[in-house]
Amino acid sequence: MTVISTPGAATRSLPVPVLRPLGYTGNVRITSGPLAERIDDAVETYLGVEPDDILHGFRLAADQDAPGKPMTGWSSKTTSPTFGQWMSGLARIGVTAGRPEATERALALAKGWAATIHADGNPGLQDAYGLEKVVCALVDLTVLADRPDLLDLVAKVTEWADTHWPRDRPVGTPVDFEGGMYAGPGETLEWYTIAENFYRGWLAGGDDALKEFAAEWHYDHFWDRFLEKPAPGQPWVVPTYLHAYSHLNTFSSAAAAYEVTGDERFLTILKNAHDYFTTTQNYATGGYGPSEFTMPEDGSLGRSVEWRTDTAEIVCGSWAAFKLTSALLKHTGEARYADWVEQLVYSGIGAVTPVQPSGKTPYYQDYRLGIATKLPHWDDWPCCSGTYIQCVSHLPDLVYFAADDGLAVTLYVPSTVEWEHEGQTRSLTQETGFPAADTSTLTIGGAGRFTLKLRVPAWTEGFSVAVNGEALGGEATPSDWFVIDRDWADGDTVVVTLGAGLRLLPIDRWHPNRVAVAYGPVVLGQSAEWTAPLALQIPWAMIDLNAAFSRDDEGLHFTPNYTGTARLKVGSFKPLSEFPDRFPHRVYFDVDAPRIV
Ligand SMILES: [Zn+2]
Repeated sequence: MTVISTPGAATRSLPVPVLRPLGYTGNVRITSGPLAERIDDAVETYLGVEPDDILHGFRLAADQDAPGKPMTGWSSKTTSPTFGQWMSGLARIGVTAGRPEATERALALAKGWAATIHADGNPGLQDAYGLEKVVCALVDLTVLADRPDLLDLVAKVTEWADTHWPRDRPVGTPVDFEGGMYAGPGETLEWYTIAENFYRGWLAGGDDALKEFAAEWHYDHFWDRFLEKPAPGQPWVVPTYLHAYSHLNTFSSAAAAYEVTGDERFLTILKNAHDYFTTTQNYATGGYGPSEFTMPEDGSLGRSVEWRTDTAEIVCGSWAAFKLTSALLKHTGEARYADWVEQLVYSGIGAVTPVQPSGKTPYYQDYRLGIATKLPHWDDWPCCSGTYIQCVSHLPDLVYFAADDGLAVTLYVPSTVEWEHEGQTRSLTQETGFPAADTSTLTIGGAGRFTLKLRVPAWTEGFSVAVNGEALGGEATPSDWFVIDRDWADGDTVVVTLGAGLRLLPIDRWHPNRVAVAYGPVVLGQSAEWTAPLALQIPWAMIDLNAAFSRDDEGLHFTPNYTGTARLKVGSFKPLSEFPDRFPHRVYFDVDAPRIV
C-alpha cells in the first residue's frame, strides 16, 4: 500500500490530528453510484482540455511559440483565474481516484507554465488570486507526486510576490461590503485567502520565508469576530460582506495557521465560524451566500429567495466548506462536522450539472420561490470550473478517517478503504444503495481488534447497527459516533440502518412556514412544469409526512397525497440532483400561502 502524506499535514504540523483523513493516501475508492460517476466524468472532462490551449495565453504573454488556441469565457485571454485549481484538481484526483494520468497532466501543466515565468520571478498571472491557487497546485504536486523540487518554484514566485504585492489589506465596512484590495487595472484581490497555501508550502517542507509571508495575510478583522460565540438567544453580530465564498474560504487560512503554530485560538475561530455559517447562513442544501453576500441574522436569508436567482455560489461554496469541515474533523474528531459535508455531497456539489467539455460550468443554484431553474454560468470556465474538480477530487477524502484506535466512517457511500492500524494493513468494503435504500453493509477485511466509529447522522429517525446479524444495543446520538470496539474476524459484516425520512426544513426562524423538503440529507425539488406548489396544514409540525406523501417504488420520488387545485395537480418531488438544466422546479415553499402566480 502506498502511503503519501495528506496535503497540508506534513511532518511539520504542530497539532497532532485526532483523525487522519485517508483519501490522499490513495487507498480510498468510491466504487459505484452517482459520486463515482461524477469523479469519472470530471477526469474525462478535464483531461479532455488540450494542455496547449490551457497554456496558450501564458506562452503568448511570454513571447513564446503558442500552439493550440485561446479558450473561451474567463479563459479567453489567459487561464490565470482557474489554472492553479485545474492543476490542483488533476493532481489530487490522480491520487484520490487512482488515475495517475491526471497527476501526470498536472505535472506537464506545471512544467509548461514554469517555462513562461519571467526572469525576475514574475509569474505572469493576472493577480494574487491566480498565484495563490497555483501555489496550491505546486504544493499538492510536491506532496502527492513526490516532487519537492517544485518548492523551489514556490520560493521563487513567493519572493517576487513579497516584493511586488501591495500590503493595503483593506477590510469590509458598512459602505464597502467587499474590502478586498485593488491589485491592478480592473482586478480585485480577495487577499484574505492568501495565507493558506503559502503555509501549506511551509508544511510541505518549504523554507521559512513562506511561513513569514503567509503570516502577513491573516484576516484578524474578520477571524477575531469568531473568538467567542454569542450568548444563548443572542444573534451573531457579523456585518454583511461580499464574496461569501471567500469569507468562508478565509478560514482555511486560519486552519493552516493552526497547523503551523498550534495556537488554540485559531481552532476556536474555526469551530465558531462553522457554527455561525451552519446556523445563520446555510440553506437546506448546505449552500450559502445569496448574490454572494453573507447575511445579517435578521430574516434576510429567508427573504433572499423572493426575487433573485443567484441564491448560492454552490461549487466554490462547497469547496470552502469541504476544507473547513475537513480541518475540523481532523483536529477535533467530532462527528458533527460531517453533517455539512453530507448536505453538500447530496444537495450542493452533488446536485449540480457537471462542468462540460465546452466550459459550461455550474455556478449559482436557484432556490427562488415559485419557480427555479438550473443554468450554467453565462461565461465559460468561471471560478467554479476551478473549484469543481477540486471538490470532486476531494470526495474520497471525506468518507473514512483513521484514528489511533481504529477507523471512523463519515459517509455512507459504496467504497473501499485500506489503512494502517498498529502496523497492520486493514481493509473495509462498504456496499449501499443509500439514500434510496436505508442500509449500508460494511465488510471487514482481516482479523484483529480495532474500534469502528460510525457517524450517526443529524437527521436520523432510527439509527441501528447489527454485526453478523445480531443487533447491537447502545445509544445512537445524532451528530455523534456510534462506537464498536471488538475483535474482528475476516469477513465480519456490519449492517447500518440509517433511519432516513421525510423532513421539512424552515429557511430561518423568521420564516417558519417557508420550507424545503428533504429525505434524510437529500433536498427534494418539486417539478414545477404546470403544477401547483406544495401546501400544508398549519402547524405543519403536526403532520405525519409519511402519510402526506406516497413514495414510488424506485428512487426517492414522492407525490403529495392531495390533488392541488381544480386546474393544476400538485407537483411530484425528486432529488435536486435529478433535475436537468432548464427544467422548472421549486426548492422552497410558503406552505401556508402557496401562490400559483
Ligand atoms: Zn465560483
